[in-house]
Amino acid sequence: MDNRMNILDIWVDCVNMQQALSQVESYVVKGKRPYVVLASNPEKNFSVPNDPLLYETFKQADLLIPDGIGVVEAAKILYGVKLSRVPGVELMQNICAMAAQQGYRIFVFGASEEVSRMACEKLQRIYSGLNIVGRVNGYLGNDEMPGLVREINDSKAQILFLALGSPKQEKWLSDHVAELTTVRVCQGIGGTLDTIAGTVRRAPQLWRQLNLEWLYRLLAEPKRIMRQKLLPIFAVRVLATKFRTAF
Ligand code: UDP
Repeated sequence: MDNRMNILDIWVDCVNMQQALSQVESYVVKGKRPYVVLASNPEKNFSVPNDPLLYETFKQADLLIPDGIGVVEAAKILYGVKLSRVPGVELMQNICAMAAQQGYRIFVFGASEEVSRMACEKLQRIYSGLNIVGRVNGYLGNDEMPGLVREINDSKAQILFLALGSPKQEKWLSDHVAELTTVRVCQGIGGTLDTIAGTVRRAPQLWRQLNLEWLYRLLAEPKRIMRQKLLPIFAVRVLATKFRTAF
């Protein structure tokens, strides 16, 4: 993307939901290779720079959506740019709505077998006509990867949702994206299938409007504390960067 901004040690693209969706559609319609869509959020500032493989995949991604409120605030503080959030979970569902309308073929890889089945059934109920041409759970062995890649290619999928969590999904992309022959969009969706299946609840609308989705997730899943405690560190680093560059 041309309008990519540096947020501390990572990047984010200046796109809103509509622009992200149009971009995805143009990848599907006009693309000649798989295009990678990943979520940019504060947590990535702590993982991406420390892992060379993750760093390369993230840097080379075709679209880095402003998934977390932290990067939206950081863009405002650092550059005065007003972004609106494009949560990965919402983009994924909007892509499903578009795919159901246009007849695009979807493959879903990741999450437990039960979550994958429940989420795919639910998506097909919500987006009537959604053509999920294949789904495989995310607990395969490495020796099963050539078979999986063959299955994805044979299904002629155009959109691949990768739900392995970070950095597993980025590592999978780095190993296999070049082997995909029909896929034009790969979106890393992390734990989105758990949310759709209902095994993990998303924050209610009011919490989201108040930009407190992160707090809701923390209260719902206290084991995320290790990850969420990075948020204040991120905020301090953004302010320190702003302060340094202001003089
Ligand atoms: N997962 C998987 N295979 C693995 C490890 C994890 O399919 O080997 C799935 C897991 O079942 C869950 C998702 O990856 O559905 C990870 O979700 P998490 O919320 O941790 O990811 P994030 O969105 O934070 O990257």
